[in-house]
Amino acid sequence: VAKNPAEPEFHQAVKEVLESLRVVVEANEEKYRKDALLERLVEPERQFKFRVPWVDDKGQVQVNTGYRVQFNSAIGPYKGGLRLHPSVNLGIIKFLGFEQIFKNSLTGLPIGGGKGGSDFDPKGKSDREVMAFCQSFMTELCKYIGADTDVPAGDIGTGAREIGYMFGQYKRIRGVYEGVLTGKGLSYGGSLARTEATGYGLLYLTKEMLKINGHDIAGKTVAVSGSGNVAIYATQKAQQLGAKVVTVSDSNGWVYDPDGIDVSALKEIKEINRARLTEYKNYRPNSEYHEGRGVWSVKADIALPCATQNELLIDDAKLLVENGCIAVAEGANMPTTLEATEYLQSHGVLFAPGKAANAGGVATSALEMSQNSERLSWSFDEVDSKLQGIMINICHNMADAAKRYEAEGNYVVGANIAGFEKVVEAMTAQGIV
Ligand code: NDP
Repeated sequence: VAKNPAEPEFHQAVKEVLESLRVVVEANEEKYRKDALLERLVEPERQFKFRVPWVDDKGQVQVNTGYRVQFNSAIGPYKGGLRLHPSVNLGIIKFLGFEQIFKNSLTGLPIGGGKGGSDFDPKGKSDREVMAFCQSFMTELCKYIGADTDVPAGDIGTGAREIGYMFGQYKRIRGVYEGVLTGKGLSYGGSLARTEATGYGLLYLTKEMLKINGHDIAGKTVAVSGSGNVAIYATQKAQQLGAKVVTVSDSNGWVYDPDGIDVSALKEIKEINRARLTEYKNYRPNSEYHEGRGVWSVKADIALPCATQNELLIDDAKLLVENGCIAVAEGANMPTTLEATEYLQSHGVLFAPGKAANAGGVATSALEMSQNSERLSWSFDEVDSKLQGIMINICHNMADAAKRYEAEGNYVVGANIAGFEKVVEAMTAQGIV
């Protein structure tokens, strides 16, 4: 804390991971101490912070701050998204980059951990303003990334439009056509199923977790938070698997639809019109719109937080338990506070942490990298079936790791251990670097 002041989210993420690794750390204490393994693990290999000046539609110069944290490259090139949101600061990027190391390791694919972004807010900006920002951001970022070095992707506020503008600028400055970003459009190297991957992957893992605990996802009622990329495709896949999703939300309010969320209406509102959820009632007169928070107050068997960090708090956990919730799987990164997680687990709720449950996005990004390297495009079904295999594998790996360390059913511990073991083995083999 003294070394990295004012980074509460980073401290929270490190604490959560190290707490759950206690058994492994104690068993190997001497070796880790000698190599300063944990000290090296929590120190990013490199971090960049830079000025991003751009001109708005009124001719006014605006200045944002850009970040890229290259956290750990023990098992592959740095990989992780770019977040564009006014709340972005170094501590948030470091928390996300730290989590990304273990998530990427869990996928079983050769990718290291990194994260980046800016405090720029794309909301309410014209396309030209977004382009001006993205070009300025990439003008600096392009010095530090590359297809074999560091491959950023989307995250909150960075969708296909932003990735397109950034890719164009990278190519223009560096003069190379390579898979330097993932989440690209299909006409210039993107992968089929990448858009759907995080939400679909979340459901593949949730379904498997329920199955190994004797439940079936079909017929279950699901509460989803958020209404962005992850939330939309989580809702779609949940419904394809026979569950009913009754809520979605944004930072202003939330929707309750007793008949099940209409995914095509949601897609039209969010993806095409870039509008707010207040519009949903125009499509579904039977639904309710409420200002503020409230998604976790409805009766649901399964809760899927898919918006942002620290959005499922202790009181929400209590409500979920009271209403008979049997499983929580995190679509977002660190949406559940530590206190809420512990409450859910101690009340018998199955809990899949984000680094396992939302790893489908980055796994499919790694599949996009493979396609770019071999200059081929795989079919939707090919990518989707690889994604299913990866998520089922992650589910079993986290369950098995938990069992090995006598924490059966504790998937937080299991996911951290399974991700950590591979990174530590690679770091140890590569010497003190
Ligand atoms: P989007 O920008 O597409 O959507 C984010 C959603 O969350 C929006 O509905 C947004 O509402 C809401 N939200 C954002 N910030 C807040 C806040 N402070 N309070 C309440 N609601 C908020 O992002 P994604 O769907 O891509 O990402 C969602 C989460 O999933 C993030 O934690 C991200 O890191 C994680 N994730 C995403 C992956 C991906 O492939 N996209 C991969 C793995 C993890 P509003 O429109 O009002 O801002």
